[in-house]
Parts: sequence; structure tokens; C-alpha cells
Amino acid sequence: MKSCSVPGCARKVRARGLCDSHYQRHRRGQTVTTPLRSYGITGCSVDGCAREHAAGGLCYYHWSQARKPSRWRQRTPAEVKEMRQLHSQGVSFEELARRFACAPSTAARICKGWSFREDGREG
Ligand SMILES: [Zn+2]
Ligand SMILES: [Zn+2]
Repeated sequence: MKSCSVPGCARKVRARGLCDSHYQRHRRGQTVTTPLRSYGITGCSVDGCAREHAAGGLCYYHWSQARKPSRWRQRTPAEVKEMRQLHSQGVSFEELARRFACAPSTAARICKGWSFREDGREG
């Protein structure tokens, strides 16, 4: 069985040496070498998150969090603890913001204890 001529693509040839997906791209005049996103994503793009991919490169949890304004986001005590721990190890607020899908200012507030007390409650 011949496989698609696009490097890295192992799908079955449909026409002109291309698989179904790549052939359709070719017909639409799109470049065939950019990765087929909908096939490549299997998990959330947030570091350390093992949830299944839902939308926009994120799991449903991070995707829904990313859509909410930061003040609506509730951090669990475990997240707050982890954030503060990482911060104490020298992880920047920008990096924390990326990992926890929030704004750097939110990460800073949490790490400085402005948003959460030690028990994790807001206030
Ligand atoms: Zn292909
Ligand atoms: Zn996630």
C-alpha cells in the first residue's frame, strides 16, 4: 500500500500521491506541508496537564478557564499552593500565567498572597 508523499504523513494515498486530507488541501490551493492540526492534537498544550484535547489546543478545563475574565477564575487551594511553590523556586509570573492559563498579574497576586490566604480561600 502506497502512503502519502507529504513528509511525516503515513496516511493512505487517495490521489496524486496524496492522502485524502492532503489531496483536499492541494485542491483548495493550500500548502500541504503545514501539519494537519485536527489530527495532531491529542492533549492539552498547558505544561503538566494530562487532560484530553477539547478545543483550541487546550483541554475543556483550560479552554473554559481561558475564556473567562481573570476575576471569575477560582483557583483551587492545590493550584494556589503549587503556584506559590513554583514561584519560590524561581518560576516567573509569565511562566506561571502560561501554565495555569491566567494573566501574569493574577499569578503575581496569588503568589504575593493578595488574592488567597494560606488556606486557599479568596479574600
Ligand atoms: Zn497526507
Ligand atoms: Zn489542560
